[in-house]
Amino acid sequence: MAIGNYAAANPSDYCDSILSKISGEISHRFRTGARAAREVLHLWTGLGYYARARNLHKAAKTVASQYNGEFPTSLEEMNALPGVGRSTAAAVLSSVYKKPHAILDGNVKRTLARAFAIDGWPGKKTVENQLWEIADTHTPSTNVDKYNQAMMDMGAMVCTRSKPKCSLCPVESMCVSKSNGNPLDYPGKKPKKEKPIKSTWFVMLHYQGEVWLEQRPQTGIWGGLFCFPQNEQATIDHKLDSMGIKTKDIKKSETLIAFRHTFSHYHLDITPILVDLSKQPNVVMEADKGLWYNLTQPEVIGLAAPVKQLLESLPSELRTLSN
Ligand code: SF4
Repeated sequence: MAIGNYAAANPSDYCDSILSKISGEISHRFRTGARAAREVLHLWTGLGYYARARNLHKAAKTVASQYNGEFPTSLEEMNALPGVGRSTAAAVLSSVYKKPHAILDGNVKRTLARAFAIDGWPGKKTVENQLWEIADTHTPSTNVDKYNQAMMDMGAMVCTRSKPKCSLCPVESMCVSKSNGNPLDYPGKKPKKEKPIKSTWFVMLHYQGEVWLEQRPQTGIWGGLFCFPQNEQATIDHKLDSMGIKTKDIKKSETLIAFRHTFSHYHLDITPILVDLSKQPNVVMEADKGLWYNLTQPEVIGLAAPVKQLLESLPSELRTLSN
């Protein structure tokens, strides 16, 4: 069976087999502390979350150099290792040494938020602190390993994200959200952040069936793609001037309908201005910066999405402009 199919059919077996395969190799490298991080990353190939592999390697080096190869057994020291959070440290110490530390992973957060009807997004410090307080209060000093394991299992199998199985839940009788009839309202959602709005002009220089397009820098938005010259100022006079375009060389110009292009992190309001020239300017039109794009025999180049959209509507805009 292909690995992908096997993994899909047996997710936990798959994880176990991967972990047992790599753990021997990695723990040997970690113990010796002599191998480079890239070997660890090589072993991790295909597993994703590469920061975890890097952190594990860093943590192993810290254990080797600062703790003489013995894992620290205090919550503070383990929590200080790269990639080891408070809940992970508590889970390891409670499971291995039966130390009475509370855990608070994602599953436990959800279960506690519902059982005690804790409002707010757990990513917010005040909400998280409230949940830690509840977790600390209820974690027993004996059988802590079993309790913590049960809490994780309960979140993973009973108090699940979208369909909590309340009738099977051992805390159903005391669960506040269950008695209020709204378990799915907890935990609170991450507040949506408003995207900022930026604005720009697209300066569409047209001369005898061709428009000027510039290639964008390789990094940043539309990296390496071709785009109309942009202008962030309130007016485009300065931009035209810097491109060597004189007023007497402009046959006609028209501001087209503005539109919004949305990126993952902001909205860009674009106002295109079509400038029909009677003479081809030569100041900034250097071949290595861009090209004159022939509208009837277009070059095969990468175009930013809104540029492609504007080029498609350009013939009809030009007809309107010449009337
Ligand atoms: S009763 Fe339902 S909502 Fe409450 S903790 Fe149990 S499974 Fe979650």
